[in-house]
Amino acid sequence: MQIKQQLIPLKPYEPGKPIEEVQRELGLEKVVKLASNENPFGCSEKVKQAIQEQLNALHIYPDGYAFQIREKVAQHLNVDKDQLIFGNGTDEVILILCRAMLSSDTNTVMATPSFSQYKHNALIEGAEIREVPLMNGEHDLDGMLTQIDENTRIVWVCNPNNPSGNYIDKERFLSFLQNVPKHVLVVSDEAYFEYVVAEDYPDTISLLNEYRNLMVLRTFSKAYGLAALRIGYGVGNPNLIKSLDPARPPFNTSTLAQAAALAALDDQEYIQDCRKKNREGLEQFYAFCSKYKLDYYPTQANFILIDFKRKGNEVFQYLLKNGYIVRSGEALGFPTSARITVGNQEENQGIIDCLSQWLENEERD
Ligand SMILES: *Cc1c(COP(=O)(O)O)cnc(C)c1O
Repeated sequence: MQIKQQLIPLKPYEPGKPIEEVQRELGLEKVVKLASNENPFGCSEKVKQAIQEQLNALHIYPDGYAFQIREKVAQHLNVDKDQLIFGNGTDEVILILCRAMLSSDTNTVMATPSFSQYKHNALIEGAEIREVPLMNGEHDLDGMLTQIDENTRIVWVCNPNNPSGNYIDKERFLSFLQNVPKHVLVVSDEAYFEYVVAEDYPDTISLLNEYRNLMVLRTFSKAYGLAALRIGYGVGNPNLIKSLDPARPPFNTSTLAQAAALAALDDQEYIQDCRKKNREGLEQFYAFCSKYKLDYYPTQANFILIDFKRKGNEVFQYLLKNGYIVRSGEALGFPTSARITVGNQEENQGIIDCLSQWLENEERD
């Protein structure tokens, strides 16, 4: 049997280690996972009620059109219903975009390091990947523009960027958008949108009418706390959305995910509270970094990339032994860093104490 040539060197996605596995392997009673940028406070209580109400309908296929959540999101964003495409997580919207738009005679432009799935899915479609290194953690938008040619189909902008946490402001984003040729789709991946506090963050939804080659991605996996249910969406031009739809599996978001997202979107108070706590948590990490003179990127997301000036895997292993799962920067393109998800106040203090002890012991040696 022969699989696509381009698939052979690819590795499956390496997820943050699951809590149960770490507990088992290391015999630890308490393990805190601060690795995959999940919401440490879980989801709104209203979501749990909404899921309960669906439990008698599990034998019925979900609504493939996702009517209710479609209507709700359209209202929430003040866009038309036909501007939305839902995915089994935003990951699937990325997959659908690549499947529908990329092939071996096309190329796609992205920053590096950035979110791994743009490249991964584009490679499977056989497209040429044009990666432009970040500059000081930020997208080099001018550099990305120079990589675009007549065969470019998609340019990916991760804002805020995972794993650096930096964001692109309104002015820079707009000037970029104005300079991207109209035959190229600009994808603004805003997975951390709800956590952003920067006042000059671009309001991309308001640009959709003018820029038909813009698509915005959002997810319920991060601030909304629904990572396990897998639901996210893209917002764009109705014609584009319509032509993407045949590449979407017919029942790709589940009944439970749709109901949960509906309830989650209704509880904006909860999101505001999580966003506030996230900023407080980041202050804990900023103070820690400044005390130990560690470099980090200022972040608009719910994670922080800290440069420990030693192998990221070493930081990862040390923390793992002490019951904290983080992401080593080695897998993320920052070999001397670790990416830590902001937890609750106690979790943040715990990991900070643990790291402080390590750094102080080393100083003494
Ligand atoms: C987490 C994340 C996603 C995907 O989230 P889903 O769980 O698939 O909705 C997309 N983009 C970025 C940058 C992310 O960090």
